[in-house]
Amino acid sequence: MAKPWVCIDCGARQADKGACAACGKGDTLDTRDEKVRELMYDVDLRLRQKAETRARMIGVAIGMGTIGACMVLVPGYWKLRGRLYPGLPGLIDQWFFMAVIGFFASKLLERVLLMQRFPYLNEQQQIVD
Ligand SMILES: [Zn+2]
Repeated sequence: MAKPWVCIDCGARQADKGACAACGKGDTLDTRDEKVRELMYDVDLRLRQKAETRARMIGVAIGMGTIGACMVLVPGYWKLRGRLYPGLPGLIDQWFFMAVIGFFASKLLERVLLMQRFPYLNEQQQIVD
């Protein structure tokens, strides 16, 4: 039983029950309790979903901004369309490029924005022993 008590507010662990020594915001909970581990999982899940949502919004903006900037600022951008590849009606090809750029930008940002409070949660051994 190294540090079984965890602070839900900041994720710090400590050996003794009582107020959190790291942030002092609240009492620590016992990680040996299944319900506490579920709560920790839910907190991290919520943080992950928040990071994904934010990353997706920024990714969409980056995708649209990149293609928009290419259309306006890159000379000859429109001439490539039809020469390198056939343009699709309704600018579907441009929307596709935005989506691809946005997707990869958001996947990269997810990793940057994700801040797990309990990164040690899946290391079951460390929590229980
Ligand atoms: Zn704390």
